[in-house]
Amino acid sequence: MISAGFVVQKLNCCDMTTIYVRFTMGERREFHLREKTRRHRQLEILDRRYELSAFEKEELQKLEAGYEGELIFDGILEGFIHGTNIVHMKDYNFYPEAVDARLLTRPEAEAGHVQIDNVVIAKDYLYTFEIKNYSFDLHHRDSHWFFDNGGEFADPLAQVVKQRNMMGKLLDGVEGRIRMFNLLVFINKDQTIFNLPASNEIIVRSNLRKKLVKAMTVNHHDHSRLVGNLEARRVTVLKYQGDTTVDFRDIRKGVFCAACGERLVRVNRYKFLCSGCRTPLPVLEVLEQLIVELQILNSSWTVTPALIQKYSNDEISEYCVRNNKKRGLLDY
Ligand SMILES: [Zn+2]
Repeated sequence: MISAGFVVQKLNCCDMTTIYVRFTMGERREFHLREKTRRHRQLEILDRRYELSAFEKEELQKLEAGYEGELIFDGILEGFIHGTNIVHMKDYNFYPEAVDARLLTRPEAEAGHVQIDNVVIAKDYLYTFEIKNYSFDLHHRDSHWFFDNGGEFADPLAQVVKQRNMMGKLLDGVEGRIRMFNLLVFINKDQTIFNLPASNEIIVRSNLRKKLVKAMTVNHHDHSRLVGNLEARRVTVLKYQGDTTVDFRDIRKGVFCAACGERLVRVNRYKFLCSGCRTPLPVLEVLEQLIVELQILNSSWTVTPALIQKYSNDEISEYCVRNNKKRGLLDY
């Protein structure tokens, strides 16, 4: 997935995945993977533990493709920015205007927000990159977009226009002048766009590197104040990321492999083994995963040793949960 190198070690913790990527020069560097949204993680869990409708399976596939496309872009971009003063902000979300929480009639987290896949400050310019990982071909004709079968496809540039307007207003509010470019990247190398419009806003995979070589050069000015102001306006809790409405009783119980989704089989007191990819997993790790899953699914469920035992289909006992908790190995 990461084209700039290959993964040599992968570590999972509750909310951040860090992978180490070995690059061609043999150098090892740390690389923070962008996070999946809560909705994405809920659907991944429910895909194993619930009968998702065709509609929601499709939503999961779209989220997977989108996330994978962003990782591909991150990997390519990282090759240009490592060791430079180029700034890369992933999944930058903000409210279009300064919201005074006292004036809102609903929770601040539910107010509409603007979502930008990537904000990059390079060459003393601010770039936004919207990543589209579509595996299907598109045709452009008379300012409209069409699928192969002739059906119309919603104009992907509309989102870029909205981002330009909203980001422009935000920049006016937080900081003086920086020139902005808003770009749309079709990242999927198997996709063809017929009659690609001659627009500087659209980048396809085959010319991505060439475009980045020109744009991703060092900044000559200090942009730390701008970055600080942008970070201060960043929103992390998003409205579409609420609790699932699925009832705990309707969820398939058991322990599943986070990597391949197959069931885990208990090997001995300390270890599980994945029946699919054969990955061995220590009990403590499986236990931590169950707790994280419960919190991702529905934060209003009270996580207790009894609930965990039930969720694991008795694969992990209440006693085991209490014991690990008492030893300070579990945090919930
Ligand atoms: Zn597995």
